[in-house]
Amino acid sequence: MRKPKIVILGAGYGGLMTATRLQKSLGVNEAEIVLVNKNDYHYETTWLHEASAGTLHHDRVRYDISNVIDKNKVAFVKGTVTDIKTDEKVVLLEDGQISYDYLVFALGGESETFGIQGLKEHAFTITNVNTARKLRDHIEYQFATYNEIGNSEPLTIVVGGAGFTGIEFLGELANRVPELCKEYDVDFHKVRIICVEAAPTALPGFDPELVNYAVSTLEKKGVEFRIGTAIKGCNPDGIIVAKGEDEVEEIKAKTVVWAAGVRGSSVIEQSGIEAMRGRVKVNPDLRAPGHDNIFVIGDSSLVINEEINRPYPPTAQIAMQQGEVVAKNLTALIRNETNLQSFTPDIKGTVCSLGHDDAIGVVFGKKLVGKKASFMKKMVDNRALFMIGGTSTVLKKGKFNIL
Ligand code: FAD
Repeated sequence: MRKPKIVILGAGYGGLMTATRLQKSLGVNEAEIVLVNKNDYHYETTWLHEASAGTLHHDRVRYDISNVIDKNKVAFVKGTVTDIKTDEKVVLLEDGQISYDYLVFALGGESETFGIQGLKEHAFTITNVNTARKLRDHIEYQFATYNEIGNSEPLTIVVGGAGFTGIEFLGELANRVPELCKEYDVDFHKVRIICVEAAPTALPGFDPELVNYAVSTLEKKGVEFRIGTAIKGCNPDGIIVAKGEDEVEEIKAKTVVWAAGVRGSSVIEQSGIEAMRGRVKVNPDLRAPGHDNIFVIGDSSLVINEEINRPYPPTAQIAMQQGEVVAKNLTALIRNETNLQSFTPDIKGTVCSLGHDDAIGVVFGKKLVGKKASFMKKMVDNRALFMIGGTSTVLKKGKFNIL
């Protein structure tokens, strides 16, 4: 009899967690498992702000998928997914196609620019290893050429968004800039780092005391905050922001980083699966409504926090927990069991780094700042490595500079 075929799309936190759990729970004869990913490596998306600022080499944030999958049980296909034909149970790749019986959609999120003119064309994003490397090189180039050009303008870097990604990137950047100034003989006072945020506060939803700590720490390192200010447009010379009711102001900057919005994968929209901005409001068992053989997890899924009737923010923490539940549910389906587990996020805490040596966070309900929070952040990072790749991956890639 033909074995049922499970195809997992994406080897990020959600997809790789599903694959590594399934290879433990299912026997070789029970199912054929295929994992598809654009690259033959996995990257720690939650470390990309470090690679983008140049405080951590991009090779440190990635590892080979072959190191963590059991090749006897999981076949890896390197390919870019372009569409899913749900009626035919086929996934289309740029150069081929794969049929499936069960599908796990875990292609992560994409940058959302909310239709702001010029952002897509002129702003950098922090979305994968290649965008991180491009941004790091661009920033370094600005410093390397600043004196040559004989600039009268300051060397300005604008970060759009003071949410989690924006603040974590600013923390790294604020540490990196003095090093770059020294390296390229640029006067520190000629450098401006400006963070523009449309919401009335940085880190909306975070404890206000911790937000104040983060903002004042970054300000002391030279970051200027423009909170409650909306970006209206972006061009090769910088950004346009709203000023008062009808006026606008231009902020000249050779580097604009957009870190303010995440949407689900465009492949979801292409496939016709019902979604809101690429995110599928999944059933409690994580299946897409109307598709009994398709699970959607990670940044392309939408799970409502019933307590506040709002979606949980997309996080690696949730993606990994969903991966564990999907592996259990698929194992049950393959064994013809009908009782599927419902997914409820178990939020253990949130830690936001402010560079390698400082952070803010709430862990198990306790507020933390400074070195303690920073230590906790590294433990969270190492835990993610351990959950997917075990001890050997922690030893190879873990963060041990904890003092
Ligand atoms: P991802 O981990 O992004 O993986 C998606 C995978 O799919 C990737 O391997 C990608 O290459 C692949 N892929 C994408 N499209 C295709 C395609 N068409 N074909 C083939 N392969 C494709 N969350 C936290 O919980 N804590 C944090 O501290 C935290 N910090 C963050 C810091 C930064 C700078 C950023 C950007 C995010 C942070 N997040 C954090 C959010 C977290 O990284 C995401 O929620 C998480 O990565 C989502 O996991 P995922 O499995 O859905 O997707």
